[in-house]
Amino acid sequence: MSSFVRLARHAFSILFFGLLAAGLSGCAHSPLPPAGGVEAYASVIAPAVFERASSQVIQGYRVESGILRMPDKRRGSLVVVHGLDGAVTALVDEPGKRGVLQVSATGKRSFTESGAENFKLPDTIKVARHHLHEASPGGLQIIDVLVGLSRQSANWLVDPLAFAIGQIETANQGLRNALVEDVQIRLAGMQIVDDDHAITGDTLSQVEDIFARGMTSAHADLVAAFFVGNKDDTATGWGYIPGRATVQRARSVTAFRHEIGHNASGDHCYGEYPDDDEWVPRFGYDNGKSTTILCGNDDPYYSNPRVHDQYGLPLGNTRTANMALTWHEMAPYMAAYTPALVGQRLILAGTADVTAQFSITRAQPGLVGFVALSAVNGPVQLIPGGAGYTPLTVRLKDAQGRESDVYFRGVRWVGQCPELLTPMNATVECAVGGDVYLAIEYHREDNPPLPDRLFSGELKLKVLDRSVGNWLEPVTVLISVAGSSKR
Ligand SMILES: [Zn+2]
Repeated sequence: MSSFVRLARHAFSILFFGLLAAGLSGCAHSPLPPAGGVEAYASVIAPAVFERASSQVIQGYRVESGILRMPDKRRGSLVVVHGLDGAVTALVDEPGKRGVLQVSATGKRSFTESGAENFKLPDTIKVARHHLHEASPGGLQIIDVLVGLSRQSANWLVDPLAFAIGQIETANQGLRNALVEDVQIRLAGMQIVDDDHAITGDTLSQVEDIFARGMTSAHADLVAAFFVGNKDDTATGWGYIPGRATVQRARSVTAFRHEIGHNASGDHCYGEYPDDDEWVPRFGYDNGKSTTILCGNDDPYYSNPRVHDQYGLPLGNTRTANMALTWHEMAPYMAAYTPALVGQRLILAGTADVTAQFSITRAQPGLVGFVALSAVNGPVQLIPGGAGYTPLTVRLKDAQGRESDVYFRGVRWVGQCPELLTPMNATVECAVGGDVYLAIEYHREDNPPLPDRLFSGELKLKVLDRSVGNWLEPVTVLISVAGSSKR
């Protein structure tokens, strides 16, 4: 957010909404995602040069990715996610330097190295393919992934949502680099759980149970668990061949793209086992200079014999190593594990206070607002004006299924007038127009009795537009938050 907007909103808030200003200090209500600046990570990636190949906005966060080019021609990759409050999370995959760079909104920096990794260790559980569901081949295949965190891994993160968006992007980058244009991995939702686990095959076999509630709420096809891990870890990550779950070390920036490749039924390097010919061409590739994601994982590519590295060598073999073709063939099945969520999704997940926002473009923004589907949760009708925020109540569950009512705030504004924060169901005009924004906020101070555990669930809202008969769009807020009461 620009300092001008911050100051303008702050001054306005003090004048007119003193109560609101107290509650919202430190929150982000930004009309536009922050512009991407290289200064946040330039010193960490030096002497590599970042060649940006993709830039997009997801839930108000800007995610950029591309290749890192070293002076000696070696290559790596970089994913940078800019959060709503100016914090930066970067997944750095540079030859000789891999890790997670985090810069907080106040400029505090940390770089956590991924540590020793060996992606040729046994790290898979093979399952029969009769589990595959009916699929609809053709067109863009979107595979929805729930990112699961433990409280320990989430506490280490400056911005858990930025981390989840960045990890998902590492796999999309591998697909784009391998010229797979009809497959996209999407962040479906997030769930944070109380306990961390070792990175083992045994944990892999429990992941779908541990994150069952989050998978159901988010309509997730797959689940990717990111744990801190411990001395019992048997690999950097584990994944089913094929299947719906992976588990990996949170500090690894290259494990997820590898393990989800296993979920797509990919295996390591061709020629290691006598029955490998039954699996071709679902292998990664090592051409002597570069190793693709499933066979060594040094370079950000799934194997494709049509793609060449910087030395002119192919990154695949037509008969044995063509993960690009495998992704193309498997994605319709992977995207069909669960029907996708209808409407907008808003992911609200963290172990501290957390805000989530999205925007929608409508012809007459002054006539658009947000209401609850059920009066149990909040207001179900639009109002013409008002100040402050909308109190919302959502019944959430902890890991044991114990229920608690948890309180949230719903705020609305129009893009060009971010100082006009109103209840989410108020249809207040903005003379210069802009997109209509909704922010849902969780404040621990609103929930003093909530026990110090993780709670998850969902809140169903809808967008209403007074200018168009009954126009509406459903909004599902996917919630995973922590209480703070030690009693
Ligand atoms: Zn593997």
